[in-house]
Amino acid sequence: MTDPNDPALRSFVPVDPASDFPMQNLPYGVFSARGLAPRIGVAIGDYVLDLWGLEQDGRLDVEPGTFAASSLNAFMTQGPKVWARIRARISELLRHDNDELRDNDELQKLALLPMAQVELHLPIAVAGYTDFYSSKEHATNVGVMFRGKDNALQPNWLHMPIGYNGRASTVVVSGTKVRRPRGQLKPANTEHPSFGSCQRLDFELEMGAVIGQTSPMGEMLSEAQAQEMIFGFVLLNDWSARDIQQWEYVPLGPFQGKAFATSISPWVVTSAALEPFRCRGPEQVPQPLAYLRQAQANNYDLELEVGLRAGSMSKSARICRTNFKYMYWSSVQQLMHHASSGCAMNVGDLLGSGTISGPEKSQRGSLLEISWNGTEPVQLADGVVRTFLEDGDSLAMRGWCQSEGYRVGFGEVEGTILPAD
Ligand code: CA
Repeated sequence: MTDPNDPALRSFVPVDPASDFPMQNLPYGVFSARGLAPRIGVAIGDYVLDLWGLEQDGRLDVEPGTFAASSLNAFMTQGPKVWARIRARISELLRHDNDELRDNDELQKLALLPMAQVELHLPIAVAGYTDFYSSKEHATNVGVMFRGKDNALQPNWLHMPIGYNGRASTVVVSGTKVRRPRGQLKPANTEHPSFGSCQRLDFELEMGAVIGQTSPMGEMLSEAQAQEMIFGFVLLNDWSARDIQQWEYVPLGPFQGKAFATSISPWVVTSAALEPFRCRGPEQVPQPLAYLRQAQANNYDLELEVGLRAGSMSKSARICRTNFKYMYWSSVQQLMHHASSGCAMNVGDLLGSGTISGPEKSQRGSLLEISWNGTEPVQLADGVVRTFLEDGDSLAMRGWCQSEGYRVGFGEVEGTILPAD
């Protein structure tokens, strides 16, 4: 059988070279259309392939009803061998030189839908959401702002991927509007805290690793086990209320300042599709402890950009362009660290990478850094200036791995800010 990542593969479905969804991608999502219940599909060009339709027609060999589900969890539970076999089969069905679906009008009418006509849903039932803090550039920027240049990184930072347990209940799919959070605020110049709407609302550009296998309570994970457990990735916006966060975070870390919303992109790009884009991350000095060491290149050369559009602007202005490859701690190391205490991991766990900033000023992945804590307002367009997000602002992130003649992309994750009341 052909390698589904073979650059030479072509589909009978037309795919523009600039599309995020060529034959070499085949990301999974959950969609509904024609008034029917949500089911699982795969993106190909401007179309969605209905896997439940194909399963019912006897074209996919899985546990019955796998693709009728409203989340990918049951499919992910079936494990990496099934993931590989199904991806290869879908690739085969979409090939330009395979007549099975290409010449079957009835089946095509049933199973191939224009993406513009479907509604995309949250792709996974999020079991747990953990957010990390693994970009050295981001942690350094934030540290310099709040503690000064000499104490920018906390003493633990170079020794483990720092993280906290976030809320799974408020992970939402792209396009979901986000209400400005409320919380306790205590600006530096006031004596007492007050309760009110967030005045320093921010985004964080992150990738989310989707965990597709369980690990038992009490067990640690090897690098190979951790790699195998990561089903794929989504774009992730870890919305952040900086003023709420600043007052609440001592001594247990972020809580309400992060709990109100986390947005993810609707398509889960599989680790298998990202395989050709693996690269080594930055050199880790000092060498991590033995349980965190990695022999493989577990980073990805994955371009990222962020656009911001105020309600009054006709089109969005780019405010960040960076790359996932800069991350100091890889998703594999995050997962190994997460399980190292004996913490059980579940199918549907979501691991936020942490804000992805790069070495350059144009590569900062949050408004906190871009506006340097509000002291350097950013000019968008049409005279619009921002330090933090305002009501009506739309924030969109895009990501893709560029290959010769095609790209393996993630689509986008977008969210628009609604007023607090
Ligand atoms: Ca974060």
